[in-house]
Amino acid sequence: MEALEIDARNNCERAGDVSAAEVDPAGEAPWAFAPGDVGREFAAGFLDEGVCRWWILNKIHGDGHVTCPECHVPLTDVALRRFWEGNRICCRACGKYFTALTKTFLGGCHMNFREIILLAVFLHFGIPAREIARILKISTETVRLWEIKFNALNRMKGMEITNA
Ligand SMILES: [Zn+2]
Repeated sequence: MEALEIDARNNCERAGDVSAAEVDPAGEAPWAFAPGDVGREFAAGFLDEGVCRWWILNKIHGDGHVTCPECHVPLTDVALRRFWEGNRICCRACGKYFTALTKTFLGGCHMNFREIILLAVFLHFGIPAREIARILKISTETVRLWEIKFNALNRMKGMEITNA
C-alpha cells in the first residue's frame, strides 16, 4: 500500500502529468503561459542591460588597459567609470568624444548592449533572419550583414589561434 502511494506521487511530479486541479483556466488567477506567448512578446527589454554591457565590454577591453581611441592617453577616475558604464566621454587630452565601442567592431552599430547580445545569441541558435529582424526592429538586410561580419571575425579569430 505504501509503495503504491509513493509511486502515485512520483507519477504526478513528472512533467506533463499535471492534474486537472492544478490547471484551472477558469480560475481567477492567471494560471500559466505557453512558450509561444514568450516567443511573441520576447524582446531585448527582457534582459539586464548591465549584465549585457559588462559581458560585451569585458570581451572587448578585458585586459583593463583603457585609453582614448584617438590619442591613446590612459583613462582615469570619472572618465574610466563612464567608460565602463557605456557613456560618452570627452578626452581631456585631445578633446575627442568617444564611448567604449568607438573604433571597435561594434562602433556605430545603433543597437544597445541588450540588442547586441540578443542578435548574437539568435544567430548562434540559428533563428531565421526575419524573426531576428522583427524582435530587434531592424531590417533583415542588417541581420544578414551582421551574420557576415560575425562569421568574418570568427574566421580571423581562428587564424590568430592557428598562427600563435
Ligand atoms: Zn584623446
